Amino acid sequence: MRVLSAAPLLQDMLPEISARVQKFRAGSGRPPKVALIRVGDDPASTIYLKTKMNRAHKIGIDSELFAYPEAVAEEEVVARIQHLNQEPSVDGILVQLPLPDPLSEKSILDKIVPEKDVDGLTTVTQGRLFRGDACLAPCTAQGIVRLLKTAHVNMAGKHAVIVGRSLIVGRPLAMMLLHENCTVTVAHSQSRNVATLCRGADILISSVGSPGFVTPEFVKEGATVIDVGISRSCSPDGTKCVVGDVDFRAVAPLCEFITPVPGGVGPMTVECLMQNVVEAAEHLWNGGSASE
Ligand code: NAP
Repeated sequence: MRVLSAAPLLQDMLPEISARVQKFRAGSGRPPKVALIRVGDDPASTIYLKTKMNRAHKIGIDSELFAYPEAVAEEEVVARIQHLNQEPSVDGILVQLPLPDPLSEKSILDKIVPEKDVDGLTTVTQGRLFRGDACLAPCTAQGIVRLLKTAHVNMAGKHAVIVGRSLIVGRPLAMMLLHENCTVTVAHSQSRNVATLCRGADILISSVGSPGFVTPEFVKEGATVIDVGISRSCSPDGTKCVVGDVDFRAVAPLCEFITPVPGGVGPMTVECLMQNVVEAAEHLWNGGSASE
């Protein structure tokens, strides 16, 4: 069994992305920049955004946060996005999800021009991903595929089972694993015999958000298990902690590879966001237009 942590991979990726940032700065006279939009004061969203801004700062990417109260009118958020679409110093736009009711996530996300859609969540980007065309792919799915490639997990012909069908994780990941020639099954809350489905997986990915969901009865001997879940919990001594979907201690002995929580998919998601920002900046600098 090997624990597939993000840390060594991030260490390897840092020189390459830093070099790209430096080259972009030298050519354009400014750093790549991402604009982050938050609505309301959900504590988890605040922490995720802080993590993203800290990582951007470390890599030399500029970031700017636009924070709105929960009662903001949808038109105000849309007006901000339309302004950022036109702003030449901004390469990427990210709307931190979830958005509070009654804001429409799909409608707001779709106001971002695809060239600046660094979270990969607009209809156009997801359509491109579906077709196998070049795009800024959703960050968590990208991060998972990178982790698998780093571990030299041979994906072609393998049976991947994804539990969870969200637009952020499950669905784009299904497309990306199909592009890697996996045979893909997507399970969800209406699926029958989920444990049996999962036991057929060579690669099992859980994105449910339910601590302890994946137990040894879900896992085939020698499988690779990727834990996307992030739930807040308390350790036995009462300190706050973050846990995944997988009962790590019970499941790990069965696995060839397993990702930890924290320290697995989460940091890879942030790193792939940074990659997308640099990618978007390079593309726009090389004459790709922001289409709105
Ligand atoms: P989500 O929108 O919360 O949806 C959860 C999915 O799990 C849904 O598709 C749901 O099915 C399915 N599900 C719920 N109960 C189930 C059950 N008993 N059996 C089988 N499937 C079940 O999903 P998400 O946005 O992908 O988030 C999931 C978790 O991943 C959360 O903990 C989130 O915080 C975390 N997350 C982590 C990262 C990271 O970077 N590590 C990134 C994104 C999300 P239905 O569709 O039928 O409701």
